[in-house]
Amino acid sequence: MTQFQSKLLDEIKRIISDQRRVLWEEHDLYSYSFDASFGTYLPDVVVQPVTTDEVVKLVKFANQYKIPITPRGHSTCLSGGPLPVQGGIVCDMSKMNQKLLIDEEDLVAIVSPGVLTSQIHKAAEEKGLMYPPDPSSSGVSTIGGNLAENSGGPRGLKYGVTKDYVIGLEVVTPEGEVIRTGGRTVKNVTGYDLTKLIVGSEGTLGIITEAILRLIPKPPASETLMAIFDDLVDSGRAISKVLSSGILPSKLELMDQASIAAVENYEPCGLPTDAEAILLIEVDGHPHAVADEIASVREICKQVGAREIRMAKNDKERQELWKARKLVSPAIAKIKPTKISEDATVPRSKIPDMFKRLKEIRAKYNIDLVVFGHAGDGNLHPNIIADKRDKEEMRRVEQAVSEIFAAAIELGGTLSGEHGIGTMKAPFMEMELGTVGLEMMRRIKKAWDPNNIMNPGKIFPEPGQKLVLTDE
Ligand SMILES: Cc1cc2nc3c(=O)[nH]c(=O)nc-3n(C[C@H](O)[C@H](O)[C@H](O)COP(=O)(O)OP(=O)(O)OC[C@H]3O[C@@H](n4cnc5c(N)ncnc54)[C@H](O)[C@@H]3O)c2cc1C
Repeated sequence: MTQFQSKLLDEIKRIISDQRRVLWEEHDLYSYSFDASFGTYLPDVVVQPVTTDEVVKLVKFANQYKIPITPRGHSTCLSGGPLPVQGGIVCDMSKMNQKLLIDEEDLVAIVSPGVLTSQIHKAAEEKGLMYPPDPSSSGVSTIGGNLAENSGGPRGLKYGVTKDYVIGLEVVTPEGEVIRTGGRTVKNVTGYDLTKLIVGSEGTLGIITEAILRLIPKPPASETLMAIFDDLVDSGRAISKVLSSGILPSKLELMDQASIAAVENYEPCGLPTDAEAILLIEVDGHPHAVADEIASVREICKQVGAREIRMAKNDKERQELWKARKLVSPAIAKIKPTKISEDATVPRSKIPDMFKRLKEIRAKYNIDLVVFGHAGDGNLHPNIIADKRDKEEMRRVEQAVSEIFAAAIELGGTLSGEHGIGTMKAPFMEMELGTVGLEMMRRIKKAWDPNNIMNPGKIFPEPGQKLVLTDE
């Protein structure tokens, strides 16, 4: 143990009474050194608070001695958010998971940050309600992480993302003060909207210790179909045509040929490996409307050139159709050991153009590029599969990633639709925001966190910072 660690531990043990919630042994620190993106960074100590009061004391201590503190949920982040890049304290919020109240009268859920998103889905559904944001990681990610990343998911197309369902927060500021933003009312225009500022701030402006989430009635019916295309660009046209037909599907997901092949290789689901694209489309609402809408969606896909359409006749068949999409991530991770998962997003009308650009980038840099994701809202997930031990390959990947971002921005899109900036996209921030836009964000950070202790090294690039995907 270093001298710094030993001093740190003495102080922290005064704050956290249960010593089992203070971790400092090497094997523990390694467990907290990575997320689902790239790079490993060891913290000096890990603390698992269970009350707001413990978080307050911990943050006050960190601020007084200017020690970096990084909030963390379950570390499923795909952009480097919970990585303790400057060491210091990792504040593991996953043990603060005691509260999950559903209020049927006010149509809200009141939750602790460590509660899993899937637990909120389940609790709401038991009361005939729905919490719409549904990141594919909802079974393993915490609501605190979802709030900090402003996570989305397949249902984002129709229902929006996390920020659209948060109406109140309790937050411990970087100076250790407790603030409450918003409240239990759907309408609230009192002053600046600090709730929206905190949501998506990636743990850089404070630690969320409680949230009030808006719920909606659960739609009574839903239908799903799978449309199979010989041409990827045709599938892009089908997406545009469905969306401009007056139907708003609850989910519209895409798998390209490489992801179809990867899934069939990993766990055969009966998908045609020679097809260039598969669309999975779900509509929900009143049973009569749903029946009409799914019939129209089927007709549009046929007109645009789908070679086959599979309709789910019951819940079991629906689960089967969705299973293929859920398997894409684990399946492609089997191809090569390093997976760089991007979420550059373009306006819906530019989806076919983005497909074309991705095809060109794949050929230009000779990379394994797989495209799947929430195509209906333009939030494609171009994933590059590589081997980080192959430095020459990783240089090509770095260039390809830069070009993917440039393409998305040229087409009027954004660096990130849902995974956040973290460390991975910080070097590209100015490309999207411009110098002044980025400077205004820096000023907000400085006002909230004058000592720059709260998750430092995220979102804002260091001068000259470039994307580096090797462990040099
Ligand atoms: C297989 C897989 C599928 C995924 N699918 C999706 C998807 O469909 N949609 C999507 O949007 N994302 C997806 N993700 C990304 C990831 O799951 C989300 O970003 C998720 O919200 C992270 O939650 P977490 O609990 O793991 O948080 P972590 O990864 O631990 O942390 C994420 C960020 O939140 C901050 N943070 C955590 N808790 C708090 C808190 N209480 N207060 C303040 N800041 C906090 C951290 O500092 C960090 O910056 C996926 C990831 C994987 C691995």
